Amino acid sequence: MTADHSAALIVAAGRRTRAGSGETPKQFQSIGGRAVLAHVLDAFVAHPAIDTIQVVIGSGDAVQYDSIAPHTERLLPPIVGGSTRQESVFAGLKALAPHAPSRVLIHDAARPFASAGLIAAVADALVDYEAVIPTSPVSATLKAVDGDGRVVATIPRDRLHTAETPQGFRFETILNAHRKAAAEGRDFTDDAAIAEWAGIPVRTVPGDPAKVKLTTAAEIIAADRRLAGETALRLGDVRVGNGYDVHAFGPGNQVMLGGVAIPHSRGLVGHSDADVALHALTDAVLGALAEGDIGAHFPPTDPQWRGASSDRFLADAVGRVAARGGVIAHLDLTIIAEAPKIGPHRDALRQRIAAICGIGVDRVAIKATTNEGLGFIGRGEGIAAYATATIRLPFGASQ
Ligand code: MG
Repeated sequence: MTADHSAALIVAAGRRTRAGSGETPKQFQSIGGRAVLAHVLDAFVAHPAIDTIQVVIGSGDAVQYDSIAPHTERLLPPIVGGSTRQESVFAGLKALAPHAPSRVLIHDAARPFASAGLIAAVADALVDYEAVIPTSPVSATLKAVDGDGRVVATIPRDRLHTAETPQGFRFETILNAHRKAAAEGRDFTDDAAIAEWAGIPVRTVPGDPAKVKLTTAAEIIAADRRLAGETALRLGDVRVGNGYDVHAFGPGNQVMLGGVAIPHSRGLVGHSDADVALHALTDAVLGALAEGDIGAHFPPTDPQWRGASSDRFLADAVGRVAARGGVIAHLDLTIIAEAPKIGPHRDALRQRIAAICGIGVDRVAIKATTNEGLGFIGRGEGIAAYATATIRLPFGASQ
């Protein structure tokens, strides 16, 4: 490891159900359509100041964690934490030790809004200081209240700050402080308190009091609404495109539909794999972008597309949406064929199309119908598909 190797330690082992929603720990509750912890991982995985990330999860949370964890080498396999936050952090530090980081940023999973700027500020300050935490001045008036509900005193607030995370430390310094605290049976509410107890000077950088820790059910609901509102504003340019394709039957024993090979007494004739469903979807997405059609991007006269797997056409169109900062909101596909029957394959098609597009299966609709024996489809000469794509782009996005 290099001398300036920086690790992040995400503490996501909390089991407190104070935040509501029954059995789901708050780090796995959804805000803005994704788990709280997924937002946290996004911030650290994408950050240039972080080389390695260790997440500490609760026992029994491995399956849920795997369903949201991004696939990147920077993210180490999760470890299971202890019964207190401090035990969980200590376990995470010991797991990081073989990777020999020089610095570690310890972050609470219940703080999903850590900005790249805050992470950078903490990491940068660790060049000069052994321990760095973000804090914000207390703005409320503070009262000391006794057990009978009587105000005992008003606490001067001019030097009081609230502690936030990520809290950054020289790695060996905080590991040794945790070792000492564990050996002496001391329990603290944050890592800076352990550092202070161990005699390590702790420096502050300006925090962001708006980037709240999600503790109550009401805070999670508020965060969800705020993110939903931000997304609606950011991706408010909603566009709809349609696509149509048809391919004729020919010799063969299967047809490709929606990226799935379906056994049939005939095949479909085409320059590529003749997947009418993916071709219609590709044109629908390109239509929503107003970026031409599949023939313009993948000319049938070009020999490189002979027999090509059509998922690459759809993936290319979806990539164009992403390149413009947008997302696929919904795909709706109607397949028209006398045979084969689509119904038994509907779920497989939905899953395959969702995977190609990197979206949830609940955003892919597939209907199938016959043509009641009418016309070329009714005579069993081919298969047609209609598709509608709804995409969301940022306002002002241009090519
Ligand atoms: Mg076609």
